[in-house]
Amino acid sequence: PTWTHGCHQVASARLDVRGAPNVSRSVLVTGGNRGIGLAIARAFAENGDAVTITHRSGEPPEGLTGVRCDVTDGASVDEAFDTVEAAQGPVEVLVANAGITRDMLLLRMGEQDFTDVVDTNLTGAYRVAKRASKAMLRARKGRIIFISSVVGLLGSAGQVNYAASKAGLVGMARSIARELGSRSITANVVAPGFVQSDMTDELPEKRREEILGGIPLGRYASSDEVAGVVRWLASDEAAYVTGAVIPVDGGLGMGH
Ligand code: NDP
Repeated sequence: PTWTHGCHQVASARLDVRGAPNVSRSVLVTGGNRGIGLAIARAFAENGDAVTITHRSGEPPEGLTGVRCDVTDGASVDEAFDTVEAAQGPVEVLVANAGITRDMLLLRMGEQDFTDVVDTNLTGAYRVAKRASKAMLRARKGRIIFISSVVGLLGSAGQVNYAASKAGLVGMARSIARELGSRSITANVVAPGFVQSDMTDELPEKRREEILGGIPLGRYASSDEVAGVVRWLASDEAAYVTGAVIPVDGGLGMGH
């Protein structure tokens, strides 16, 4: 493969470990300023891709380009995409990762607690997927990856809102896979189990032990283990994978 350097190049190339060429793509990761999203963004950047992450406040992480975006606000999503398109071209790989929890038992869960979680995790994913799909349709290619959760399939006491939002991503991805498949656009779901992060750090010790007892691999995932699967779904090797739900859960949700 041709191996050239130069800032005038539109698409730069890089050799991966097996020597196959990897053309740089325009990647957007929502909520990529920390946690799993940050690991995903770094994995694509390592690959030689042009990556932008969204953040709501503060500065983007070192070495990554950031754009301000709140996925609950359609105008903010639109503006963020305009900025990304101007800077690195239309988004070819979208990772809808931004998510929140607001855990409590059903009887105590206020309607706002339900709708806020759904608005961020599910409607937010719809907003960014819809916006990204416009350019993907024109380009006749694209990869959309939704970060769901094992909880979306398994259920979880105290997470009626969160589990509903994460299960919704499966129906959404599969419908997009059907709508846009003829244009070589894939839509897939990654369903992580428990990942070492700010979200899991907040769990009480007793709950942590219970959880580990139910995981065949007996440990939490690292963010990098989730990121690797996301990067693979966006690679040429996964061109024929669409509408899939890929668990990265150490065996916690087997059977779903
Ligand atoms: P974090 O809480 O560490 O990060 C969440 C990210 O989402 C932050 O970047 C946050 O931005 C962003 N975000 C939240 N709300 C919005 C919004 N309205 N608009 C834009 N961005 C927003 O979470 P994790 O890294 O742990 O989780 C990432 C994803 O993985 C989530 O979808 C989560 O549900 C899922 N997941 C996590 C698991 C885990 O064990 N940690 C397990 C399974 C799935 P800001 O910094 O501005 O708040």
